Amino acid sequence: MGEPISHITIVGGGTAGWIVASYLNHKLQWGIGARPGVRITVVESPRIPTIGVGEATVPTLKATLRLLQIDEDEFVARTDATIKLAIRFDDWQRPLGDGRMHSYLSPFSGGRNVGGSYPASPFVAYGAGTDDRGGDFQAVTGLAWAAAEARRGPRKIDGPPFSGVLQYAYHVDAAGLAAFLKEICLERGVAYVADDVVAIEQDERGMITSLSLAEHGRWPTELVIDCTGFRGLIVNEMLGEPFDSFADYLLNDRAIPIQVERDDRTVLSAQTEARAMNAGWSWRIPLHGRDGTGLVYSSAFANDDEALTELERLLGPTATRLTSPRTIKMRVGRTRRSWVKNCIAVGGASGFMEPLESTTILAIELAARWLLKNFPTTDFESALAGRFNREIDRFYDEVRDFLGLHFALSDRDDTPYWRAVRHDAKRSDTLTENLALWRHRLPIREDVRAGAAFGHVAIQGVLIGKGFYHDAAPAMAGVVPRSIWDRHRADLRAQQHVLSHALPDHFALIEAIRARAVHGISAGHVPGIAAIDEEALLAQTQLLREG
Ligand SMILES: Cc1cc2nc3c(=O)[nH]c(=O)nc-3n(C[C@H](O)[C@H](O)[C@H](O)COP(=O)(O)OP(=O)(O)OC[C@H]3O[C@@H](n4cnc5c(N)ncnc54)[C@H](O)[C@@H]3O)c2cc1C
Repeated sequence: MGEPISHITIVGGGTAGWIVASYLNHKLQWGIGARPGVRITVVESPRIPTIGVGEATVPTLKATLRLLQIDEDEFVARTDATIKLAIRFDDWQRPLGDGRMHSYLSPFSGGRNVGGSYPASPFVAYGAGTDDRGGDFQAVTGLAWAAAEARRGPRKIDGPPFSGVLQYAYHVDAAGLAAFLKEICLERGVAYVADDVVAIEQDERGMITSLSLAEHGRWPTELVIDCTGFRGLIVNEMLGEPFDSFADYLLNDRAIPIQVERDDRTVLSAQTEARAMNAGWSWRIPLHGRDGTGLVYSSAFANDDEALTELERLLGPTATRLTSPRTIKMRVGRTRRSWVKNCIAVGGASGFMEPLESTTILAIELAARWLLKNFPTTDFESALAGRFNREIDRFYDEVRDFLGLHFALSDRDDTPYWRAVRHDAKRSDTLTENLALWRHRLPIREDVRAGAAFGHVAIQGVLIGKGFYHDAAPAMAGVVPRSIWDRHRADLRAQQHVLSHALPDHFALIEAIRARAVHGISAGHVPGIAAIDEEALLAQTQLLREG
């Protein structure tokens, strides 16, 4: 039996580095059950910048903040955060019959059950009927749609933190999030060294015994967390672990981010917008003080100049640019084993799926949780590493397949890119098998691994949103009677109306939250509170977009 690990070095100070530092600090240094003598250090290059994009999140971040006992008001104020209720997908399918742009919503709150079951079955069986809401599944069946359309927040102005009548996540300033977590980590005992790792020393078993830092020299360590981003400095470059590309599955490999001023900053959407473009898609993420925008594209179908021209055209001549555009090369895929010897890669060093579903921060949070669940001793037990790596692999494979749905099920064929993503992009055997199955019935719980990030409800939403059942509804067992369905839709419509009037304006809610944080009404970071059932909290938020 090995000894408890007491000296951990995290290399990299981006989102991955500081989220992992926060988790390890909470569990090993600062929170309940902390062990004396544990040292955690973040070593960050003063020369190499962080990626600085990554501004849409999923609701797991709420669980992370609660676990770390970070005050929500302060978090919102410090990271320029806003509320995210949903992603809106514009133009991913051909225009509607009447010429309007196709648009559908993917919210974190699903529809209300009808006759004891989720509304997907009756929606598919009976259709939307004559409805002026465009026949969008979420518009007809869900409450989040109404709130998102009316730009409402998910709870009353004076409602308690982390709560809401609708499930939500945040839009955050990426650099602000890393800086905020850094400050908290340093307050709570994490050490920080600004220096470059230039080499590693290994023992006869291949374990890293020390890092060589450009200025500080030899840095002995027991456990290394590689958070160096797409470069994978330690895991890939120094330990030689291969990176398995998913470029055949997900064709987008470049991105150009630009931050812009919002025309009217008080008009604050609570949706991430993802609009399909000629050779990729563009995003718009509304923060309190500005919007993050950009284009994700495939370099096989547009060169960088063409991509920038398309993005500039979309933004229009009058938009005030706050940053200059830059091109980011995305390394899409996963490191074959994220845990190798005594090095564990997290974030971009571990893997990256293109950002359509905002899954990187989620991947980082899950890696931190799985690491703590499988925390080794100085023997670095291979069974623990094996289990960790299996969880990571499954996660990336599932996300890859979920993302694949968005492209494979598009009916656009107006550019070579759209024809390629539909017909030439590789599909996993699992996705191929599932798509054949889902032709005949809706996705059910058993089709998806327990605890998977995207459950069957999220998958149903994408399939229906993209018109998968438009021409041929599958035979439905136990569909609720038509009369109940009609009554349900009428009730829901009334509830949507009430909700969109009862909930506060999103901008007003964010302003109120920021004002509370500034006035110090919030509790701040309070150590030693045992009020949270960690397991329940973390398990509960793994499921996204359940009913
Ligand atoms: C276009 C785009 C959009 C995205 N959108 C989202 C999104 O909406 N939601 C989401 O969750 N994620 C998103 N992401 C992902 C996100 O931006 C980051 O990939 C993620 O936060 C992980 O970054 P990281 O911390 O691993 O790496 P980085 O931010 O690249 O940080 C790397 C760190 O390693 C340090 N480093 C490098 N070399 C050395 C060395 N030799 N010695 C010491 N330190 C070193 C650097 O100084 C830096 O601190 C997006 C990514 C892209 C490209």
